[in-house]
Amino acid sequence: MAAVDLYEMSFAQLENLLAGWGYPVFHARQVWRWLYRQLVTNVAVMSDLPLELRTRLADSVVMHPLETLAVRQSDDGQTEKRLFLLQDGETVETVRMSYHRGHTLCLSSQVGCAMGCVFCATGQMGFRRHLTAGEMVQQVTYFQKRLRDQNARLTNLVFMGMGEPLHNYGATLQAVRRLVDRNGFNLSARRITISTIGIPYAIRALARERLPLNLAVSLHAATDDQRKRLVPAARRWPLAELMDAVAEFASITGRRVTMEWALIKGENDSASHASALAELLDGLLCHVNLIPLNPTGGYVGRPPDRHQVQVYRDILTRHGVPSTIRVGRGQDIQAGCGQLRAHADDACSGGQ
Ligand code: SAH
Ligand code: SF4
Repeated sequence: MAAVDLYEMSFAQLENLLAGWGYPVFHARQVWRWLYRQLVTNVAVMSDLPLELRTRLADSVVMHPLETLAVRQSDDGQTEKRLFLLQDGETVETVRMSYHRGHTLCLSSQVGCAMGCVFCATGQMGFRRHLTAGEMVQQVTYFQKRLRDQNARLTNLVFMGMGEPLHNYGATLQAVRRLVDRNGFNLSARRITISTIGIPYAIRALARERLPLNLAVSLHAATDDQRKRLVPAARRWPLAELMDAVAEFASITGRRVTMEWALIKGENDSASHASALAELLDGLLCHVNLIPLNPTGGYVGRPPDRHQVQVYRDILTRHGVPSTIRVGRGQDIQAGCGQLRAHADDACSGGQ
């Protein structure tokens, strides 16, 4: 029988495993704390466990910590991108962005992505596989451990790295539940954002999870025709259906939804596009995040100039739609939105 991966176990599964060996729940809690508070990656160092339990665990479970294949830091050190090697040889990227008010981790949910957005480097590489819950959680614990060494901690998580988290719904929710567990990692769900291309049935399910998560929906177009061109997967989900699901999410959770709009020069950045967006969002509890396009190898589109971005934003404001312009981060190391892919670029420095 293949050994169980400790990072893939829920607390209930761990508790069952230990109960089967005759150990009370107290010991499962200890192991959990070692994993998600102390952030250790080796059973041998769980020093307050009975030696017999440590030996049994070491014989029965495996831990495969993520291995760094490459790391890049922006010149100011505020953005760091790591390429991790997974057990089957696949790779994913994770980005830390530090601000004066905290540290945000942008994590990946899949290797590649099946949604095929034409402007996104991850979409351009196609879908390779889903990440497991453990692989998602480990991206977080890895960075948390490094920050802890500097007396800091991650303050926000955004599922905005590689992949479509709601296409990998089960594992994503398992990872979220693991991270918000008060007896473990203990991050507030209010500090976690799930960004999605907008899968209506999954948004409806998310609304019923009873977790105060933030939802961000990558809209990019206010008509079905244009959206189908930019986001091929959206052919299956007409805008009307998507907007219904988003409205349902806002009404069930009472939470303001973020609508993301990658601004592409000559494509979706005109005054009429801004008015159409404002009309589409009329009456919805939301906020728009404008992201001037980050260029990627497989797409000819470019961002509009600053003035045009401001004109676009002003139109939204006039219609009463609140918005922000996302400050570009990490483009110099190809770590901006939509620039993540599963291979080390030439300029990467290897190692830890
Ligand atoms: N699959 C999810 C999350 C990952 S993409 C989603 O699409 O929402 C994270 C964000 O980056 C999304 O808003 C996406 O639209 C945006 N993005 C993708 N490619 C981009 C690019 N080249 N320039 C700017 N933003 C981009
Ligand atoms: Fe996938 Fe999001 Fe990229 Fe679209 S933008 S291809 S959904 S990762």
